[in-house]
Amino acid sequence: MSALKYEIARDLARTHTQTEYTELSRALLAERYPLRQPKAFVHTYGCQGNVADSERIKGMLSAMGYAFTETSEEADLVLFNTCAVREHAEDRVFGNVGALKPLKAEKKDMIIALCGCMMQQPHVAERIKQSYPFVNLVFGTFAIHRVPELMYRVLRGGKRVFEIAETQEAAPEGLPVKRDSLFKAWLPIMYGCNNFCSYCVVPYVRGRERSRAPEAVLAEAKEIIAGGAKEITLLGQNVNSYGKNAEHGVNFPKLMKMINDLPGDFRIRFMTSHPKDCTKELLDTMAACEKADRHLHLPFQSGNDRVLKEMNRGYTRKAYLELIRYARRVMPDLSITSDIIVGFPGETYEEFRDTVSLIEEVKFTSLFTFIYSPRVGTRAAAMPDPVPYSEKSRWFSELLKVQEGIAAERCAHMLGNTYEVLVENETKEGCGMLTGRTGGNINIDFPGDKLLIGTFCRVKVTGAKNWLLTGELSD
Ligand code: SAH
Ligand code: SF4
Repeated sequence: MSALKYEIARDLARTHTQTEYTELSRALLAERYPLRQPKAFVHTYGCQGNVADSERIKGMLSAMGYAFTETSEEADLVLFNTCAVREHAEDRVFGNVGALKPLKAEKKDMIIALCGCMMQQPHVAERIKQSYPFVNLVFGTFAIHRVPELMYRVLRGGKRVFEIAETQEAAPEGLPVKRDSLFKAWLPIMYGCNNFCSYCVVPYVRGRERSRAPEAVLAEAKEIIAGGAKEITLLGQNVNSYGKNAEHGVNFPKLMKMINDLPGDFRIRFMTSHPKDCTKELLDTMAACEKADRHLHLPFQSGNDRVLKEMNRGYTRKAYLELIRYARRVMPDLSITSDIIVGFPGETYEEFRDTVSLIEEVKFTSLFTFIYSPRVGTRAAAMPDPVPYSEKSRWFSELLKVQEGIAAERCAHMLGNTYEVLVENETKEGCGMLTGRTGGNINIDFPGDKLLIGTFCRVKVTGAKNWLLTGELSD
């Protein structure tokens, strides 16, 4: 019996560590692809939390011997990390999985894997099991750290693998990370959510809040800075509840200050901050941290108190506006962005207009606007929802028009000013144009050398066309 076969036989009798499964998978892959490195296509849907998870998944796949590609045609493993937050996101996944069927028929040993929030829902996993027999592996959000073991079970052959654990005790540590960008890094500080906003599926698919230890976060921050990162984004569904009830006593403002005090030339961002837990301590700390960007993403969802109550958001319009006032007092140049839901069940046109008036009052830099989407198992999904979708779409367009006017006004105000931007990329059109982001999270396009990508540059705004800014390099 070969050493590998012996290991496989032994595997039936005991559980290996993930490191051992990595080695076993590596050996099986080397046997399957003796003359070349196998390739994986990992595609991520949804929020930055998913992007950060995918970077860890890619880290584990890389340790098993996979290289990466951006097309499913070239891939030996296609993995979709899915999002469940709205129906539209789910429909796209089902469509894209269906589209893989002919490819799989051609390439029999291609592995198709699905993971993430959508898969954590039992009714979705069941639908994949029944209607997509060519999918080899499905795992939920609580099994991400077990990718080596799950891949090994698939590679060993035999049955399809479905792994939807119901809970996860603590945030997994020590996973390898393969970051998408060398200069922009995602740093998860906590997982899960306890808030149960009545429309939202996240607490069901991501479980209860679990904060990482401050030492683990700091160690990762140091590693990211040593790797040359210029921007670190601290991630959590509600970063303001970081460290709640933990013995170490490090809350989110303290954690931010600790990262701010690390040596290096980098910016700190964070998301998402829930208004009900956003404290003056946080805003004061932000103001005092020279590396914290002057950008606050503070989703208010609705400007009407009855709707906010039905959403279970835990704050009023007045409390939200007070927070904004305080934040602007301590950081006059603060850029504020938000998320909004239009057409929550039972919302009337008059109530929707309260959302519009709040936008007009605050003058957000930009908004992420969504039409309400019912999610299985949430409280709102059972509420009467008499307003037709077509009507909600009209409200949605009305809101966007108001916001476009506000954004155009803001852009016009920026004309002639000079900003420090982190140069991110060439523009889609190319032609020697680069695009960079200000500390307020505002994009400016300007002509420049590609070598500037990943560095900070000073850019003067010379053109403002609606909400698109153009500029030129300043000394
Ligand atoms: N934890 C973050 C939000 C995560 S979900 C927070 O509380 O701010 C990102 C955004 O998706 C939400 O802010 C909300 O605006 C939107 N969203 C969530 N569930 C939705 C649903 N069922 N329908 C439409 N939009 C939804
Ligand atoms: Fe969803 Fe509310 Fe939790 Fe945000 S805070 S993830 S909207 S339940």
